[in-house]
Amino acid sequence: MSNHLFDAIRTAARGDAPFIRINGGRTWTYDDALDLSSRIASAIDTLGIRPGDRVAVQVDKSAEALILYLACLRSGAIYLPLNSAYTLAELDYFIGDAEPRLVVVSSTTREGVEKIAKAHGAIVETLDADGTGSLLDLASDEPADFVNASRSADDLAAILYTSGTTGRSKGAMLSHGNLLSNAMALRDYWRVTSDDRLIHALPIFHTHGLFVASNVTLLSGASMFLLPKFDPDEVLSLMQQATLLMGVPTFYVRLLQSPRLDVHAVANMRLFVSGSAPLLAETHIAFRNRTGHAILERYGMTETNMNTSNPYNGERIAGTVGLALPGVSVRVTDPATGAVLPPEETGMIEIKGPNVFKGYWRMPEKTAAEFTSDGFFISGDLGKIDRNGYVHIVGRSKDLVISGGYNIYPKEVEGEIDRLEGVAESAVIGVPHPDFGEGVTAIVVRKAEAVLDENAILGALKDRLARYKQPKRIIFAEDLPRNTMGKVQKNVLRQQYADLYA
Ligand code: ATP
Ligand code: MG
Repeated sequence: MSNHLFDAIRTAARGDAPFIRINGGRTWTYDDALDLSSRIASAIDTLGIRPGDRVAVQVDKSAEALILYLACLRSGAIYLPLNSAYTLAELDYFIGDAEPRLVVVSSTTREGVEKIAKAHGAIVETLDADGTGSLLDLASDEPADFVNASRSADDLAAILYTSGTTGRSKGAMLSHGNLLSNAMALRDYWRVTSDDRLIHALPIFHTHGLFVASNVTLLSGASMFLLPKFDPDEVLSLMQQATLLMGVPTFYVRLLQSPRLDVHAVANMRLFVSGSAPLLAETHIAFRNRTGHAILERYGMTETNMNTSNPYNGERIAGTVGLALPGVSVRVTDPATGAVLPPEETGMIEIKGPNVFKGYWRMPEKTAAEFTSDGFFISGDLGKIDRNGYVHIVGRSKDLVISGGYNIYPKEVEGEIDRLEGVAESAVIGVPHPDFGEGVTAIVVRKAEAVLDENAILGALKDRLARYKQPKRIIFAEDLPRNTMGKVQKNVLRQQYADLYA
């Protein structure tokens, strides 16, 4: 029977060539992964899980955990990965919302999860970081010749919850066709081949580590070093044997902090990719100066997979997220009227293409509200497309500050603050203000030993920013609140400083 995404993965699979290498541990060949995914798919079937049922997975990162994703594709179940940091209370929300038939967790959380699962009619099995657990016990008795469920391009492969940066996470329904079309587009755009060896240090419950990193590797028959988490020293050592790194901006910031990062350390590397959050132009430039490599920045979201990418051969421009990927349409519209804007004008980024999801799980009204009448997804990100087709993101519409009737794009103000001597990073937010509606407010992290006070920053900004863009207050903090994907949580900051001007 044909199974849209898995058939393509099987066609690209390279027999006894390595697929997953665990640093200091086992190497899994493609055949090993096909064998275990068949057994797990068969175990899932034996447990009574049918195509279209959800399988929720909250486990530590391991080769077996990634192979469980393949098993779900094969069994026709909808794979539903959950952030390993979620607490039991959060799990209760996700399990209640998604109503999975099976929940796979690590054995340490089994007891707590079992109560929640029972209340929602789900069964629980375990999978631990060392590759053991009740699910694998069941799988070991199953055959390696599982007949894959029939799945078409429009059938759901996964429900992936958004990162929850702006509010409660929403379940994005992603089809086999969404995932396959995007992974093939990225593989071709970034020239990934079976000769590539990827350093995989991202979590596998998020679109970046799961679909971008893992599907692209699978569809090119490449191999990956699967690391439990990002460790700059380990990554620097592995670069001797690897060709490709996919990371979030904080990976690059932390690599730059290491004196080991130089041209020799990256001599073997072909490509560095960044995404999931804005890469500061300053980081891009510092990395290129130190290593000779221009980091390739791309832009995507849980709902759409990847939309744009800087080119492989053409110019990779710092501070931009590049060009629309082949097959993907990107446009910018006036948020008030929906009219399509010409190049260089800032507005709402909208996306259409085979990559765009089927809607939010059990939120038909929200889904309808986020699509235009001609089928574009309203991303919630603001930006412009320049004359050369490069997309520039200026921030999220929810983070736009409106003060005294003027629109202020936080990124512009942050850029000016970050340029100042002694500033490590900053976040600009709008906070309720009795006279202006919102007051522009900057949270600033100083570099160690920097002597910088509020007046010094305000003074320095006077000639650089129009008056209405200048912060009313500067607040110093030790660090900025970030979620597991390294994204700054401005909603947390807005709450924290809600009464600042009261
Ligand atoms: P939620 O939707 O739950 O608030 P989230 O939007 O952070 O969370 P994700 O789908 O993981 O959840 O992230 C997508 C968002 O990440 C994009 O809408 C965009 O704001 C941001 N993003 C991704 N890549 C980039 C990039 N290269 N530059 C700037 N922003 C990026
Ligand atoms: Mg989002």
